[in-house]
Amino acid sequence: MSEAVARAADEVADRFRELYGSAPEGVWAAPGRVNLIGEHTDYNDGFVMPFALPHTTVAAVARREDGRLRLHSADIDAAPVELTLDELAPESDKGWTAYPAGVVWALREAGHEIDGADIHLASTVPSGAGLSSSAALEVVVALALNDLYALGLRGWQLARLCQRAENVYVGAPTGIMDQTASACCEDGHALFLDTRDLSQKQIPFDLAAEGMRLLVVDTQVKHAHSDGEYGKRRAGCEKGAALLGVDALRDVAYEELDAALDRLGDEEEVRRLVRHVVTEDQRVERVVSLLESGDTRGIGPVLTEGHASLRDDFRISCPELDMVVDTALATGALGARMTGGGFGGSAIVLVEEATVAPLTAAVEAAFAQAGFTAPRTFTAVPSPGAHRVR
Ligand code: ADP
Ligand code: MG
Repeated sequence: MSEAVARAADEVADRFRELYGSAPEGVWAAPGRVNLIGEHTDYNDGFVMPFALPHTTVAAVARREDGRLRLHSADIDAAPVELTLDELAPESDKGWTAYPAGVVWALREAGHEIDGADIHLASTVPSGAGLSSSAALEVVVALALNDLYALGLRGWQLARLCQRAENVYVGAPTGIMDQTASACCEDGHALFLDTRDLSQKQIPFDLAAEGMRLLVVDTQVKHAHSDGEYGKRRAGCEKGAALLGVDALRDVAYEELDAALDRLGDEEEVRRLVRHVVTEDQRVERVVSLLESGDTRGIGPVLTEGHASLRDDFRISCPELDMVVDTALATGALGARMTGGGFGGSAIVLVEEATVAPLTAAVEAAFAQAGFTAPRTFTAVPSPGAHRVR
């Protein structure tokens, strides 16, 4: 276990005692994630390839027997929120507590007996940066309750329940990637995930051993998933699948893409969305085979192609994300792309170790010159998925 997580666990356990007057029964951690490749494919039943970040949400939890749920976040300046389990209802809560309350609601709705809980949590996952603080929050609560109430659910099952919490209870139409990444990723690996059946393959991904780094550049431009744009893209993809007579765009083979685009006729916007999703699934498969054949540097151009597709076909980039990618490539990056839902958040950059410093400086200088808020850059190291800390 990392020292940072151990320290965070001490802190949340201490604060739990102060808040609720007794010790927690345990402490759990769930990470944020960065998606290496496979963007906006998860709600099209396609492929994704996230890995877990060292940034985690850590929660101290104890059961209650009186049907009450008390929630507190060290990152929100407010007293604990107290809820009654029988009164939890979808879209009744517009605040942060909808995420953990939604998980409890989803577990109970699936028939699991939860009698109540006290929860205090703290997170190092930046919120709204495209690194999935919402999934980390959901998964840490789901895993804690799974353990304490001995529900025996597997990681992918917890992920499904967390997705249901976010889709139905919070009201954000997100796919299954984020929750599965937080629940199922492994240290030192990227997760090749088929979002149709949640079958998984852990792919060793140790860039440091090969003299490379993956930088995450948080543009500080905030996105909001419940915003209309995400829903519009999703609806457009569903329209494309319906027009093509398939269950999901995953079912359009890359080899049949041109013929499929022809059949979409003058549906220009749908054509662009379909082209992104079908080529993106193929890019995930290319990245997997490059990594499995030992050609890690070879994934760089595939990442960059993915960015062009998100910018030009899916149209969800923004000037700050494009600036990171363009500046990084001009400064010698092996590849770069926006990551996450889009319209802000973070970009990733694959880079030789020796290029990290000049590249970071160049991106900062470009942002300063454009009058953008200074970006925050860190090296992403594939880290453990959700686990019990104590
Ligand atoms: P992302 O998942 O990309 O960070 P989202 O908009 O999906 O962005 O989720 C961010 C929301 O999750 C925040 O607005 C907040 O409601 C909730 N959240 C995440 N982390 C915490 C935390 N540590 N404490 C309280 N709420 C949190
Ligand atoms: Mg989220």
